Amino acid sequence: MTSAVATEAEAAPRIPVMVPWLGEEEAEAAAEAVRSGWVAQGPRVAEFERAFAAEVGAAHGVAVSSGTTALHLGLVALGVGAGEEVVVPSLSFIATANVARYVNAVPVFADVDVATGNLTPETITAALTPKTRAVILVHQGGVPADLDAVRALCADRGLALLEDAACAAGVRYRGAPVGVGAQVAAWSFHPRKLLTTGEGGMATTDDADVAARMRRLREHGMNVSAADRHASTKPVLEAYLETGFNYRMTDIQAAVGLVQLRKLAATVAERREIAARYQRELAGIAGLTPVADPAYGQTNYQSFWVRLDEGFPVSRDELLLRLSDAGVSARRGIMAAHMEPAYADVSTPRLPNTEALSLNSLILPVFHGMTASQQDRVIAVLKAASP
Ligand SMILES: *Cc1c(COP(=O)(O)O)cnc(C)c1O
Repeated sequence: MTSAVATEAEAAPRIPVMVPWLGEEEAEAAAEAVRSGWVAQGPRVAEFERAFAAEVGAAHGVAVSSGTTALHLGLVALGVGAGEEVVVPSLSFIATANVARYVNAVPVFADVDVATGNLTPETITAALTPKTRAVILVHQGGVPADLDAVRALCADRGLALLEDAACAAGVRYRGAPVGVGAQVAAWSFHPRKLLTTGEGGMATTDDADVAARMRRLREHGMNVSAADRHASTKPVLEAYLETGFNYRMTDIQAAVGLVQLRKLAATVAERREIAARYQRELAGIAGLTPVADPAYGQTNYQSFWVRLDEGFPVSRDELLLRLSDAGVSARRGIMAAHMEPAYADVSTPRLPNTEALSLNSLILPVFHGMTASQQDRVIAVLKAASP
């Protein structure tokens, strides 16, 4: 006995939650890098750094192996160290909290605004202690955080501010790209994000000294980059100034990134159209609230989530099951790190908005080339479940 919905799902291919928009141009760019013989960090990485930094409005870009390693270098470069406290949202991919531990600092979880999923001056203030040294501000799922308000708070208290902009390529805050004015912002190019290099990341900053330190740290603390050493016609004797890491990006990845960067504006525009259609179609369903632009900025809708509350008759997990039965890949909402075993030893006060968002929201499919009829299949499941 198959229901009408299940029959339809068998006929139509499964709808993914996200697919990277990669094509022949990226393949050709990667092949060119391979043919050139220069595959490790080299001229394409340097070009990608310049182009990406310009796109997000920062003076310097330091390409690295992932968003996580960009965050790690950011914390080191901002001088955050052992025993110091770093306020982070629990509602984030777990890497946001993990990087505090990488520098032997202590992550302290703060709650988020229920509409944006982001830290606010109020939730940060509730987590401050005399040991607080820094805040990691996430632009969650591409929704910009209220930068002016959080920057003012951090400036008043003498706190370093690291922006987790892993999801924020193409996001705007008060008319300017997120990235403008950041002490350090860390970006991810994982395929789940809008701009991908397979794996990869970038740290951006306006501070030349911070940029130079991050460049050194990504290459074992060397005072001269391997690329410069290889390009030199004279022998270069490098020195290792401090304990660094190997967090380099390859030129193959950067070649792909340069193509992806040219598509970024179109990607964001397409996602915003798909999101607007969800918002129109789902408006007025009691107990279901779709994510939306905050008053001060524009999201890239990297993650389009809907939040369920008591007014909605079906549980989040049951709704995920119904979507899955209808051939739709949706995802649970953003995780809450403080509820994971890795952080069971951290005593955290109740974080009601974090818990509500993590337990009662789900992420709907949005991807390049998503058709109206695919979207209709998603919407039909939600409408059928609604009161
Ligand atoms: C994806 C993501 C990261 C980690 O980026 P990677 O490139 O996968 O290391 C960190 N923080 C947030 C908020 C993310 O979404």
